[in-house]
Amino acid sequence: MSEHSHKTIVVTGGSKGIGRAVCEAFSAPGARIFFNYATDAAGAAETERRITAAGGTGKGVQVDVSSEDEVKAFLDGVIKETGGLDVLVNNAGITRDGLIVRMKTSDWDAVMDVNLKGAFQASKIAAKAMLKQRSGRIINISSVVGASGNPGQANYVAAKAGLIGLTKALAKELASRGITVNAVAPGYIETDMTAAMTDAQREAMIAQIPLGRPGTSREIAAAVRFLASEEAAYITGHVLHVNGGMYM
Ligand code: NAP
Repeated sequence: MSEHSHKTIVVTGGSKGIGRAVCEAFSAPGARIFFNYATDAAGAAETERRITAAGGTGKGVQVDVSSEDEVKAFLDGVIKETGGLDVLVNNAGITRDGLIVRMKTSDWDAVMDVNLKGAFQASKIAAKAMLKQRSGRIINISSVVGASGNPGQANYVAAKAGLIGLTKALAKELASRGITVNAVAPGYIETDMTAAMTDAQREAMIAQIPLGRPGTSREIAAAVRFLASEEAAYITGHVLHVNGGMYM
């Protein structure tokens, strides 16, 4: 039986892309995987199907991570149903790109609310349960641009850099109770989020990657899975870059 059997795992933004791959990576007999999504009910049903096919139990619910009340109700419900929470993966994210001179305050707020405030809210509820049980793993999905910067993404970069700060602060705050907090910073991964790129933009992006190709959602999920494993028990406050050498 897998080491994740009978564990409770929450993944935000599990209806597609990296979040779905993370749900799949944790799927095993006995694993109870709860995830949320914003609007894509069909995508959520497909993720549930894949978790079940791998022998786990999967439940996707429509919960807006930027809503404090919805996040609290979601996580409190999971903790009540299963009696605890072993792993929280803060993955839900959006982009609203634009140059600073044209960036609307609403685009700044939306990206901060989902990518950074959402992670804060989920971590707050998760930490209460994890402190009580004296164990737990929190893994935040940041981005290569949170470390390198990127023009046209001031809101997204600030949120992703903020997630790195949140990771380090929580790692120090929660370590004495056996809870680790780490971040995974993906490079260029082909998902719906990056599908809007033109062929020329895609080629220009790949030209910056020493390994010469985009990454896959499964490669990000494998890094998350590692940070949640027993083997990673002594790693906390770390940012694991999974980017094909794009940024070192
Ligand atoms: P994606 O395919 O666009 O999936 C985003 C997921 O987040 C979906 O499940 C979406 O739900 C959910 N979501 C969005 N807003 C939400 C909200 N307000 N409340 C709850 N869920 C919400 O994106 P992805 O490429 O897999 O990205 C996943 C994470 O990796 C993000 O944090 C992203 O910033 C990060 N990342 C991605 C890349 C990349 O190259 N793809 C690189 C670095 C970092 P719906 O399906 O219902 O909309």
